[in-house]
Amino acid sequence: MIQREEKIIVENRIKNDIPTFDRERLNQYTKSAIVNIYNSFSNGDLNNINVRVSKELLNKISNNMELYRISKDYDNIVVQYADIIDYERKEDAGYVKIYTTINFYDNYKNNETRNYFDDKNWNDTWIITYKALSNVDNNCKNCGSEMEYNKEKDVYECKFCRSSFHKDSKDWKIVDIEVEK
Ligand SMILES: [Zn+2]
Repeated sequence: MIQREEKIIVENRIKNDIPTFDRERLNQYTKSAIVNIYNSFSNGDLNNINVRVSKELLNKISNNMELYRISKDYDNIVVQYADIIDYERKEDAGYVKIYTTINFYDNYKNNETRNYFDDKNWNDTWIITYKALSNVDNNCKNCGSEMEYNKEKDVYECKFCRSSFHKDSKDWKIVDIEVEK
């Protein structure tokens, strides 16, 4: 079970490493990303995935289609809720977990029996893990010195050589999806 901290504490911990982090933007991005991944699997067209997803996760979903309710018989999914629940800074990057609730519809008009009573919907919880692709350490890629965040220009500037670097909060890769039913 994931430790669920106060969202504002999690948000502040992320901002401490990634000052450009935009919680609402990542939540909205998550909603469209999940629909995109789900539909691409349902349609059997993984080339349609237009968000960054790890190969390991693609394999995991491919091997657990039932767990993720991936089937051509289902009509639609809606991501009803998405918000941060956890942040962990590891050696290589920062990892953000997003709690999502997914609603799956299976309309009788499209299912095999075409029986009204077979019209169904399900709710699952998916925990999305993102890896922040931006480097979370504050050292200059040019000379290795300490960097500082310039809020006005929205860049990091090296205190020594004054090189500037963008750290965009859109640089997120989905590396895991856990299903809680
Ligand atoms: Zn530098």
